Amino acid sequence: MKNILLLFGLAVVLLIGLTTYRNSKKEKPLVVILMGAPGAGKGTHSSELSKTLNIPHISTGDLCRENIKNETPLGKAAKELMDKGELVPDNIVVEMLFNHIHDKGYDLTGYILDGFPRTLIQAKALDQRLDKDYKKIALNLNIDEEKLIDRITGRLICTSCQTPFHKTNLPPKVEGKCDKCASDLYQRDDDTKEVLKNRLEAYNKDTKALIDYYQDSKVLKDIDSNGSKEIVLENLLKNINQKKS
Ligand code: ADP
Ligand code: ZN
Repeated sequence: MKNILLLFGLAVVLLIGLTTYRNSKKEKPLVVILMGAPGAGKGTHSSELSKTLNIPHISTGDLCRENIKNETPLGKAAKELMDKGELVPDNIVVEMLFNHIHDKGYDLTGYILDGFPRTLIQAKALDQRLDKDYKKIALNLNIDEEKLIDRITGRLICTSCQTPFHKTNLPPKVEGKCDKCASDLYQRDDDTKEVLKNRLEAYNKDTKALIDYYQDSKVLKDIDSNGSKEIVLENLLKNINQKKS
């Protein structure tokens, strides 16, 4: 009887030891923050990174547009501001994003953020949510301003899978149709020269503090986004892999 108890005790101790060892080895989920002006390539690269790293990507711009389409209270509050190229209030975007992450179970997988945070308040809200159980990297896509205007005003987006195309630089194989899923392409209401001016102003106004914040916490990497899609992607992956190892 004594021997059985001893064996049982030993098994329990072994099991606890093994579980603790496993947990200490478990990789922390990764959160990638893609920053950069409108048109810097956040959308394009986050969908490529999502495939390569096998974690979901979330665009707060897409979430806003989805809420507008579904005429939710959040969407109604966001519509007028978005149309003017202004930022949606922090509390609305934070609520929308955090609900989405929770509903989809993304806390466990980690994720790529495109277009969030855009203000210091949003960055702090995210840090509070992440605490220290995540690996975090902020990648800042830098691009010359004249390139942005051409990219944005010529941009066409798939109504279904959100893949971006460009009227002249990256035209779809069939006019007006997505190469990937054959759905219709559309031009965003705020992708005009006039509205872009406001979006760039909003971006420049709030970004400096955000960059300083991530620089201070040593998670920021600057990425030159003027080169080809392939080169920029390679550079992004190199920086993310360095962070992971
Ligand atoms: P872009 O980065 O090209 O401006 P987005 O699709 O990311 O495009 O954003 C479009 C609009 O959605 C913004 O101009 C803003 O009104 C709103 N928006 C998206 N994300 C945020 C955010 N994190 N905070 C405030 N407003 C946001
Ligand atoms: Zn598509």
